[in-house]
Amino acid sequence: PSAGKKGDISREKSAEFYEKAKNYFPGGVNSPVRAFKSVYGTPLFIERGDGCFLWDADGNQFIDFCCSWGPLILGHNHPKIREKVTKTLAKGLSFGAPTALENELAELILKNNRYIEKIRFVSSGTEAVMSAIRLARGYTGRDKIIKFEGCYHGHSDALLVKAGSGLVTFGETSSAGVPKAFADETIVIPLNDKTALETAFANFKEQIAAVIIEGIPSNNGLLIQESAYIQSLRDITKANGSLLIFDEVITGFRLGFEGAAAHYDVQPDIITYGKIIGGGMPVGAYGASTELMRLISPDGGVYQAGTLSGNPVAMAAGIAQLTELRTSNFYKNLNTKTEEFADAIQRYAKAKNYRVNVLNVGSIFWFAFTDKAHIRAASDIDPASMEYYKTFHRELLNRGIYLGPSGYEVGFVSAAHSKIELEKAKRAIFESLDEVFR
Ligand code: PLP
Repeated sequence: PSAGKKGDISREKSAEFYEKAKNYFPGGVNSPVRAFKSVYGTPLFIERGDGCFLWDADGNQFIDFCCSWGPLILGHNHPKIREKVTKTLAKGLSFGAPTALENELAELILKNNRYIEKIRFVSSGTEAVMSAIRLARGYTGRDKIIKFEGCYHGHSDALLVKAGSGLVTFGETSSAGVPKAFADETIVIPLNDKTALETAFANFKEQIAAVIIEGIPSNNGLLIQESAYIQSLRDITKANGSLLIFDEVITGFRLGFEGAAAHYDVQPDIITYGKIIGGGMPVGAYGASTELMRLISPDGGVYQAGTLSGNPVAMAAGIAQLTELRTSNFYKNLNTKTEEFADAIQRYAKAKNYRVNVLNVGSIFWFAFTDKAHIRAASDIDPASMEYYKTFHRELLNRGIYLGPSGYEVGFVSAAHSKIELEKAKRAIFESLDEVFR
């Protein structure tokens, strides 16, 4: 089928690639959710992307709302990113020595972000968060961290304790191979629960190095927190000499150029970035005040390094993408477009009495198959509701709409999604909801 039109998709080539891949990779994939375990069918092997479209190995075309799990805020194959990357790679791929491109990307970020003064580039979101935790521990001289049930912060040991979608999808609460002693240093509490937060601080008072939260928790459904709750995290950490870390791997440069920090108007102590900052290349970063960042090696004693950190091609992609995000009204247009899209689907579902809520913040959206008005904690999501998503996902694929292969994953709208495509997508979504609730 072509994007937005109904027809059963063929998966012959994808299925063939998948069979082969199973010989090479655990589960046939290099990242677990890609294996389509929580939805119908086998993974689609992607051949190319352009604008808001994806084409798979069988030639099926999709309107893509996964956008590589968030990085592609300008859509696929953006000409300005392609041009800058192509020019850069012609000069060599990696030097392991500083380049002016790192300065350029840092300047673009730091001059337009009031919440951090210094930054360090790494190669993934996982690495960014892992390093931020080390910095918090190094600074405070304390070991314990508080994280929230339903927040995912990458796959480092300390944070794979009741983590997000992949693990929830597979019905596990933590990973094998994480030493109990490490997990003991991580206190997991529910979101949106001030009492649990206060109890944790009362119990572990001077042992807590940091509280870490996703800018807007978006890895276990979209768990939008109230401003007052985020402010309470700021207040309690400050009062107890602990740091507040915003993991903005998804929300950074997504909600706005200054991410969740500006969205809530709260100054965290450390912010982590990933995804959008690399324009589709492997980049992560963490930033903080000059005072805190002075602790990072070689200035200070908190060690952190990387062979490919600040890689020139990755920096080039980041510069090209973030430059586009600085154009006037970029976020206003993107966010308004997404809000209209989500609202229209919500209105349709309401009119038909379907049990689905379309949650939305900025250009992030999520289908919650429930009639609960507020979904703020992981426990507000009924795992049984994922059955609805399975059918929904199959029907969407058959209509040329690509969403992440798990009901816990959020969708992203990019600047490349035009009104015409969003209109087509809406119709396909209406029809798919009709099938789900038939
Ligand atoms: N933190 C958040 C909030 C994320 O959403 C992710 C990945 O989805 C990570 C950290 C880990 O980033 P990466 O997959 O680049 O290691």
